[in-house]
This record gives sequence, structure tokens and C-alpha cells, in this order.
Amino acid sequence: MAKSIREECRRIAEEALRVGTIQKPEHCQQCGRVANLKMRHKQYFFPLLVTWLCDTCYRQMDNAWKPPGWLDSKNPGDWIL
Ligand SMILES: [Zn+2]
Repeated sequence: MAKSIREECRRIAEEALRVGTIQKPEHCQQCGRVANLKMRHKQYFFPLLVTWLCDTCYRQMDNAWKPPGWLDSKNPGDWIL
């Protein structure tokens, strides 16, 4: 089964983190709290463009409204999270 674009982006970003292309900050980029941060993609069109968020902010983003079928769009601009 083909991987979802979400899984593929995560894999690329994790590899970039491992080799040092991107770095994990100490502070949540949304609220500034020092926490165990999770990476969140802004756009799946740019796998290395990630935001680092604490648990709370990550969950808030997850619950944010998204247009129906937003991930099925052929237009990468629609993949903004
Ligand atoms: Zn936060």
C-alpha cells in the first residue's frame, strides 16, 4: 500500500533532523513553553518546513477546522495545516 503524503513528509523530516539539516528547538513555536516538542508540517509540499509545538498547541492545531477533502487536493497550496 502506498504511504500517505503525511507519512512520507514525516519520514523525510525525521531523516533531516537525524542528519542535522533541520534542528529541534527547545521552545514551542506557538506559546514559547519549554516542552517535549512535536514536529508539525505547515505544508506537505515542503517536507522540511516544520513547526515545533508542545502537546497542547499540537492538539489545538489538530482540532482546528479543515476544509473537507483538504488532503486530497491536487493543489499543494491547499495542504497548509
Ligand atoms: Zn505550545
